[in-house]
Amino acid sequence: MDLLHTQLDNIQRKLAFVAVENIDWKFYVQTFSWAVSIFESYLLIRQYPLYSKTSPPEVLAKHFDKGVFEKSQAYGKDKAKFALFSGLYKQLTDSLMLQYGFYAWSWSVAGRLLTKVGYGSEYQILQSIGFVFILFVISSLPGLPLQIYGTFVLEEKHGFNKTTPALFISDLLKGWGLAFVLGAPFLAVFLYIFQWAGDRFVPWLMAFMISFQLVMVILYPTVIQPLFNKLSPLAEGELRTRIEGLASKLKFPLKHLYEIDGSKRSSHSNAYFFGLPWSKHIVIFDTLIQQSKPEEVEAVLAHELGHWYYLHPTKLMAISQLHIFAILALFPAFLHAPPLLRAFDFPKAVAAQPPTIVAFLLFQMILTPLEAVVSIGMNAVSRHFEWEADRFAVELQDKLGEEGKGMSDMGERLGRALITLHVKNLSTVWVDWLYSAYHHSHPTLTERLKALEGFQTKKAKTQ
Ligand SMILES: [Zn+2]
Repeated sequence: MDLLHTQLDNIQRKLAFVAVENIDWKFYVQTFSWAVSIFESYLLIRQYPLYSKTSPPEVLAKHFDKGVFEKSQAYGKDKAKFALFSGLYKQLTDSLMLQYGFYAWSWSVAGRLLTKVGYGSEYQILQSIGFVFILFVISSLPGLPLQIYGTFVLEEKHGFNKTTPALFISDLLKGWGLAFVLGAPFLAVFLYIFQWAGDRFVPWLMAFMISFQLVMVILYPTVIQPLFNKLSPLAEGELRTRIEGLASKLKFPLKHLYEIDGSKRSSHSNAYFFGLPWSKHIVIFDTLIQQSKPEEVEAVLAHELGHWYYLHPTKLMAISQLHIFAILALFPAFLHAPPLLRAFDFPKAVAAQPPTIVAFLLFQMILTPLEAVVSIGMNAVSRHFEWEADRFAVELQDKLGEEGKGMSDMGERLGRALITLHVKNLSTVWVDWLYSAYHHSHPTLTERLKALEGFQTKKAKTQ
């Protein structure tokens, strides 16, 4: 522990200038957030002409009839235009809020509201919760019209929207309610740790964040997801038998097997698993079940179980802990820095003793350009995991030996399922490499099909 704190102190000393020098942080944040936003627009402009191509890539040619391909191109084009507009719009509103002291204003409003109900500024945690709530609700308002347009105009036009206005509103209110019910106690503990541990908060905060994530693993399926969707046990039948067989052969600790009414909101489809190491749940979208044959859904699950077999979720969680650690290690330097708050229009009295939550949010904004780079790295890792899971499905027969009978065509089945998903979702087939490297956590369909074929030929050769 002492070694850790010595290292952390070293970092703090290197960053000591933050606490004393008058740096124009606001200008820095504006410049970099606009740079990221302009770069993202540039990527969309690179990608855009690909939606005008008149035929799919060769590997996909036989799976797309002309009508479907044209539909997918038109959908991609509309989505790209919408993404370009909404990206710039969001950047503009964020930038205006930043420029005109929205953060400082929210802090003082939270303070005034608190005084009205008889609590003074010594209740910093309460004021912080009010502050975050005001920020969260007000800053999500400008995006609402876009969200409405995206759901009821764009998705509707291309036949995907199943959301009714009533469902949209109830989702929104439930989302806000949930953010408050979960967020307020989380924030209270988070800030209390700073008060209690002082500048030695890093290990305690890490321990708290990890425990919180574990609690969420339990709460999400049992409490949170049922608020939005209905999970029902998957009906007896071929599909259930196949998946249970697959799980038991792989010694996957399957506790529950659910079907989820994803079609309530949209016709996009998927499958996933979650849970604690000894008790896992698999959830399959009703849309996937309707669109694909049982043996193809089984192949999708074989891919998903590949993620489990190679411990991908655990590895991703480990990476994200490292990421959080790096952020927290840099933070102390920004925690007691009046010039930082002054740069974002906070009055002298508040800046003299920076509230932790304010310092933390401003610090997060300063990290934006760094976070863009981290997200590119995370996408690369995630794409690598997708390859591994696909290869796992192809090689499942060899892995299982005698028990793997009838699984030699798993790769082909997975390929067929991916194509069906892609066709039904009208997903884009032509993708610019730079756009994909920045945005995609999954390889493109063309890349995956080529790789699946490659894994299969390699397998055939070794047999
Ligand atoms: Zn996957």
